[in-house]
Amino acid sequence: MGQIIMHIDVNSAFLSWTAAYEKQMGIERDIRTLPAVIGGNEQSRHGIVLAKSIPAKKFNIQTGMSLMEARRLCPNLLVIPPDYDVYVRASKALRDHLKRYTPDVEVFSIDECFLRFTDISRKEALDLAYKLKDGVKERFGYTINVGISENKLLAKQAGDLEKPDKCHTMFIEEIEEKLWPLPVEELFMVGRRTKVKLNRWGIYTIGELANADYKLISAMLKSHGRLIYNYAWGRDASTFKEGVPMKSVGNSSTLKFDVEDREIAHLVLLSLTEMTAWRLREANMNCRVVSISIKDKDFGFKIKQRKLMYFTDSTRDIYINACCLFDELWDKRPIRALGVHVSDLEFAKIKQINFFQDELSLKNEILDKAIDKIRSKYGDTSVIRGAFANGDLRPILGGYPDDEYPGMRSIL
Ligand SMILES: [Mg+2]
Repeated sequence: MGQIIMHIDVNSAFLSWTAAYEKQMGIERDIRTLPAVIGGNEQSRHGIVLAKSIPAKKFNIQTGMSLMEARRLCPNLLVIPPDYDVYVRASKALRDHLKRYTPDVEVFSIDECFLRFTDISRKEALDLAYKLKDGVKERFGYTINVGISENKLLAKQAGDLEKPDKCHTMFIEEIEEKLWPLPVEELFMVGRRTKVKLNRWGIYTIGELANADYKLISAMLKSHGRLIYNYAWGRDASTFKEGVPMKSVGNSSTLKFDVEDREIAHLVLLSLTEMTAWRLREANMNCRVVSISIKDKDFGFKIKQRKLMYFTDSTRDIYINACCLFDELWDKRPIRALGVHVSDLEFAKIKQINFFQDELSLKNEILDKAIDKIRSKYGDTSVIRGAFANGDLRPILGGYPDDEYPGMRSIL
């Protein structure tokens, strides 16, 4: 008997949720059984495939491919634009459902969360995992993976094993058999750049990392090296709710037209900030670093960040800082894509009202919480900022992961 952590991951989340939504709307088809993709507006310039069905995969369609290319491979392809409002609501419905099994639910990303059970045997946990998985299928009509272990890291690694519709255990004594044979980039927090470095040193599998010279890894990759080395041994020092392995949250968006106007750029930043800040609050976290990125028409890429005097989850605070950064960074070249990211995260509960925060900023925090409540009940666009009321811009942009969030690859 002891503590068990389960990692819940929605299989092909965007497709699953869209299919569940269409069924609810009385639409007869099931997009999962058709050559279908979720992708940006086909008329707009840089529409890409965000998620694909298994039949679409048979046409060699890849995630990240342009919609034009995908359409060439499969002329009858069904292209469905992403609807973040649906995803956000589906994500919340799933979490509310999971709370029937345990009150301890920790959000990890829009389609992943952790559950904690105390005083449960491994056998009971496995039985429960199957019950839970089948319960979600029956209630919502889509499948999930459940990973079971004694800590979050191993539960997540277990959840990432064979998909879909599976329950896997990965207890510490199973790592040699189940974790070590995997390519090193399958280890949580090993991103593309780290993989290249490790490969250069002859480390290709997680087992090779675990058995590498600790001093060397530590010297070459510093604290990140020590972290992933420990991960390779299944050691995860984070406790439930007190160490979400989340480093940054953010959104970036390729624009439908080149932006040459500062005011419009600020509006786009607001739109990106809305989702970023909402995700931060959903995860019960605050940030202290705000960064923005600008990609210009000639694909020049610039990034700038600043450290705030205090931790915040306020849309206004993040937005104001994003605008200042933008004004400092922008060289008036036409903008193709913009991004807003926040990092240096900590849990909200240890935040204190502090000296550097003005009164308006505190009022805005209260306002943010009220808006979140309305949005989670009535949908993302139930409350939008006045600035968007007459425009063509989406009031909330993003909601899907990017490169800086290595643990969230599986969302697509
Ligand atoms: Mg997923």
